[in-house]
Amino acid sequence: MPTGKKGHPTKYIVVTGGVLSGLGKGVAAASIGRLLCSRLKIVPVKLDGYLNTDPGTMNPVEHGEVFVLDDGGEVDMDFGHYERFLDIQGKMEWNLTMGKVFQEILERERRGDFLGKTVQFIPHATNVIKERIHRIASDEKADILLVEIGGTVGDLENLFYIEAIRQMRHEVGSENMLFVHLTYVPVPSGVREQKSKPTQQGIKLLNEAGIYPDVVIGRCEEYIDEHIKEKIALFGNIEKDCVISGPDVESVYEIPLVYEKEGLSGIIHKKLGIYSPPALGEWSQWVEAVKRNHKAPEKVVQIALGGKYTALEDSYASLVEAFEHAGAHVGARVELKWIETSQIERGELSASEALSGVDGLIIPGGFGSRGIEGKIELIRHAREAGIPFLGICYGMQLAVVEYARNVCGLTGANTEEVESPEYPVPHKVICYLPGQKAITRKGGTMRLGGHDVEVRKGSRASAVYGNSVRIRERFRHRYEVNPEYIEKMESHGIVFSGKAPGIPIMQLVELPDHPYFLACQFHPELTSNLLRPAPLFQGLVEAALVRHGQA
Ligand code: GLN
Repeated sequence: MPTGKKGHPTKYIVVTGGVLSGLGKGVAAASIGRLLCSRLKIVPVKLDGYLNTDPGTMNPVEHGEVFVLDDGGEVDMDFGHYERFLDIQGKMEWNLTMGKVFQEILERERRGDFLGKTVQFIPHATNVIKERIHRIASDEKADILLVEIGGTVGDLENLFYIEAIRQMRHEVGSENMLFVHLTYVPVPSGVREQKSKPTQQGIKLLNEAGIYPDVVIGRCEEYIDEHIKEKIALFGNIEKDCVISGPDVESVYEIPLVYEKEGLSGIIHKKLGIYSPPALGEWSQWVEAVKRNHKAPEKVVQIALGGKYTALEDSYASLVEAFEHAGAHVGARVELKWIETSQIERGELSASEALSGVDGLIIPGGFGSRGIEGKIELIRHAREAGIPFLGICYGMQLAVVEYARNVCGLTGANTEEVESPEYPVPHKVICYLPGQKAITRKGGTMRLGGHDVEVRKGSRASAVYGNSVRIRERFRHRYEVNPEYIEKMESHGIVFSGKAPGIPIMQLVELPDHPYFLACQFHPELTSNLLRPAPLFQGLVEAALVRHGQA
């Protein structure tokens, strides 16, 4: 049996979801982890039911943001919550998908591992799932493995995870495994009272699969009434104290505080025989700041976000969080103004209209050609009008394109990413990264994960990073600034202030004469957290605040 650092058996907390999706299971799991992480090593594991190997090839509108880990793994966006709440670095093996499970089974089958046997969902698929989970626990010497099962109980694609977990509880013993079920308690508008029936039915469904939750967290617009808690307890076979409220909150960072108020850590300590008191002191201080910002109309900065996935906020989940962290530290609420940049291209909106009254602009990462001319227009306007600007990944590449075209006179400059026989690009100021050319398979084929960045001494970027000359950030890109154009562009004033150590891959760009014009090839939003906001975001919000004060 896997054991934690001090030789005690690894404990498992399994989080399932019922009634409907979108209740914030990832945040709930991360919040539970936050309550328990002061003395114990918590390792989060996410089990996703889809057949993709990982979410790297999925459209973010469909699946939310693709989160990138330091080890280069492209994983579910819930890892963003785990890392932000637990202050850890996730690993790609911690995100299991049915794609990975079946890949392993088929490889083993071809190798002859099952010769003579019929390969079946049970036991073969469930065994692979259990082995993977045990392996993570032993490799990490985890005190607690926090296992989140994707989707909603009743989804066919997650059934094998549920079955594997059911078997595991049998094997490791009930004193070592705790089930937490996140459910929904609606307050229908007609009756205005909390309803427990969907939760009762959801728990029944879970019971049918052989799982009896120890703790139920009821997501609701308000705290759950005592008599509703009693009802859920009675019909769900749960101790009454173990029905916990998960009310709507202004900031997700309040959730560990709410759970604590509801007594959750004490319940888990008792049931699993552990002791790791919540350390929420510094945390609650910042949460208070976040809450103040939500309410403080006098210190609001408006930042425009120009993108193409603006239909779904989840596509930019970490970015939205990074603004919350930066706002808490600077003492301002950041209001995001979403701009669909293809509207600018179609002439329905001008860049100056889109940016009128805003205090800053961010252009995040992206792919492909749709909406990029609109983004370039926005960047041009921000550059010319002195509006604080942060470009991330594609946002940096397009800032370079804009500067090449409009300042360096390189007519038709663009990124190689949009080139086609019908649309030849005369000046490929952004080009394929060397080593990325021969790629024919998709997924995991970009320059991915954490890399060091050498920051030029005395640059604006270095100042933003507390005068650091070496930082580490996470990347996900296939293209880079074309080294052939660097000298010419720098002679016009733009400064490439960060590069990969030892190779001429540019990773930071800035304009010295602008109030705040910084762009990076990496994704600083991925490593931002409440206690340590990403410096580039904090810098943008500070500059936006200055501009706001001057307006
Ligand atoms: N499409 C660009 C590239 O592949 C930028 C990627 C991104 O923004 N994540 O380099």
